[in-house]
Amino acid sequence: MIGFARAADDLVCDGVSLSAIALAEGTPLYVYSAAMLRERYQAIDRAFGSYPHALHYALKANSTLAIARLLRELGSAADANSIWEIELARKAGFPASAIVFTGVGKSAAELECAVPLGLKAINVESAGELARVEAIAERLGRTSRVAIRINPDIDANSHPHISTGLKVNKFGIPIDEARALFATLGGRRALKLVAIHVHVGSQITTTEPLARAAARVAELAEELKALGLPLEYLDLGGGLGISYDGRVVPTAEEYAAALVDAVRPTGLPIVVEPGRAIAGAAGALVSRVIDIKPRTGDSDFAVLDAGMTELLRPALYGAYHAIEPLRPRTGRNKQYELVGPVCESSDIVGRDRRLPPLEVGDLVAIRDAGAYG
Ligand code: PLP
Repeated sequence: MIGFARAADDLVCDGVSLSAIALAEGTPLYVYSAAMLRERYQAIDRAFGSYPHALHYALKANSTLAIARLLRELGSAADANSIWEIELARKAGFPASAIVFTGVGKSAAELECAVPLGLKAINVESAGELARVEAIAERLGRTSRVAIRINPDIDANSHPHISTGLKVNKFGIPIDEARALFATLGGRRALKLVAIHVHVGSQITTTEPLARAAARVAELAEELKALGLPLEYLDLGGGLGISYDGRVVPTAEEYAAALVDAVRPTGLPIVVEPGRAIAGAAGALVSRVIDIKPRTGDSDFAVLDAGMTELLRPALYGAYHAIEPLRPRTGRNKQYELVGPVCESSDIVGRDRRLPPLEVGDLVAIRDAGAYG
């Protein structure tokens, strides 16, 4: 049995009882389905078919070493967002040539460490950062492979905290500025432009903004070719969102088709950096009820031993995660405010949930917690 499912009176992960794991390991506890991680990765990989592509798993979604190793074994490459994620990727077996270094705020120390590694690309986010990479590469007598992240001013229709493709967002370089930068690249020997990068946001649940962003990148690639600066590949950013609440999201096939259709005329290989679509549904946070007390007329607080310190998304931007008792008790459903133990009133894991009756000591699973905990 793949992933999380009900078996007899328990919730199981890849056929193993979550109650038994919680008893052996204690709570709060993250449990991941290796089978589901494999299935999600392979589904995206298959969806691109014969079109040349590389999946760079976005370690920021979940940088647990065992998960990074599993993805490497499947043939994944990596998207690292800090020098520590690069270090982790290397420990997990990713060669430098399979790592792209992304992120809007790479420190001087991080760039000093990263430039000599010979990464697949450093994805730069400003003219200043490009100059800093160049200065280090020049000093070391190297040529640094770089991708330029553009800001296409596209609304991803995701939550404002995880939308990254609008002009007002801090990410990337506006297209006109990028064009001006491209014009300088011919004479800059310490830099080799290998790709254009775009990432318009996370938890995107329609393919349209992804396709539009890919089309902008494809247009720029053609302009660059005309300037005598052919690219090696196009980096089209993160993957699709997942369904936290049963809503229908596009399939991996629809996602891949949208990207391939947009860039096919260039013939250039596609790089994507999916995180959530691989890890999100493959993880559950198992937590124990440590107190129950009255809240309002017909609702109780259920205080859990997991809160915003384990899973920040609900407190940070009101994200919804399904919550279910591992062994539901019989009796009428009751309304609960499921809260964590942190001294912050925002430490709410699930608001106004109707659940089977809970008692102190019960175990619950907070589902779809595999990404961005
Ligand atoms: N690439 C970049 C540059 C990102 O910032 C992110 C996350 O926001 C990702 C990839 C992964 O996105 P997702 O988890 O939505 O696939």
